[in-house]
Amino acid sequence: RGGQAEREIPFAKPGSLTRVYAVASGKGGVGKSSVTANLAAAMAENGLRVGVVDADIYGFSIPRMLGVTNRPTQVDDMILPPIAHEVKVISIGMFVPGNQPVVWRGPMLHRALQQFLADVFWGDLDVLLLDLPPGTGDIAISVAQLIPGAEILVVTTPQQAAAEVAERAGAIAVQTHQRIAGVIENMSWLELPDGTRQEIFGSGGGADVAASLTRTIGADVPLLGQIPLDTALREGSDTGDPVVLGRPDTPAAVALRGVARGL
Ligand code: ADP
Repeated sequence: RGGQAEREIPFAKPGSLTRVYAVASGKGGVGKSSVTANLAAAMAENGLRVGVVDADIYGFSIPRMLGVTNRPTQVDDMILPPIAHEVKVISIGMFVPGNQPVVWRGPMLHRALQQFLADVFWGDLDVLLLDLPPGTGDIAISVAQLIPGAEILVVTTPQQAAAEVAERAGAIAVQTHQRIAGVIENMSWLELPDGTRQEIFGSGGGADVAASLTRTIGADVPLLGQIPLDTALREGSDTGDPVVLGRPDTPAAVALRGVARGL
């Protein structure tokens, strides 16, 4: 839309009723996208109108996890997002030809995010989830600029090294004056057949990140939930059938549904 003024972002308007959560992590592989996809599916099942923006340029795994098969379509100068499991989804991966690696710099990413938010026909949403790239990069600042009311959800594993980088990702919110909705610990333990819990990645990371962010920002940052390791979660992500829908009674699904209800 060369030359035209940028369209307003509906979620940034005063009085917008959409709650926006930016899902952040210090590093990759902690399950940020899995958590995002399952929270979205669980919230949609609870009757909320849900959208997801997959802004994780390095991962863009959300479409596969939610089983999106259609591509976005264009109507006039708006983009219609594909819908899977009642969730509207837009991914940076939908605009990258083939399976090419993405080497985008900050300003391009900012522009892409701006378009995803303003030029996609979202309709009225109750919740918009943004799956951010891991780390403390420019995109967190972009989110704050584009949607000042967006709240941060920090995903970490119980491991101390992971928790330390997650704290840094969360601490950005201090600079950007954003609210941190809470911390979600993933891969917390593996439940063995005899009912005991094996803490494969150690313990305490989620609670530590929550406590540290509470101190840093001077407001209560809760630990919203602990999601166990669960083969069903991984399988559901691989087949596009989120575990919270397909196998809602498995340990990870129960924990994720609890987090979704609490948000
Ligand atoms: P991130 O978005 O942080 O890079 P992903 O969500 O892509 O991480 O998860 C990384 C891998 O770990 C995926 O293969 C995913 O299916 C798997 N995974 C994530 N959380 C769990 C869990 N609680 N139990 C089992 N596998 C998990």
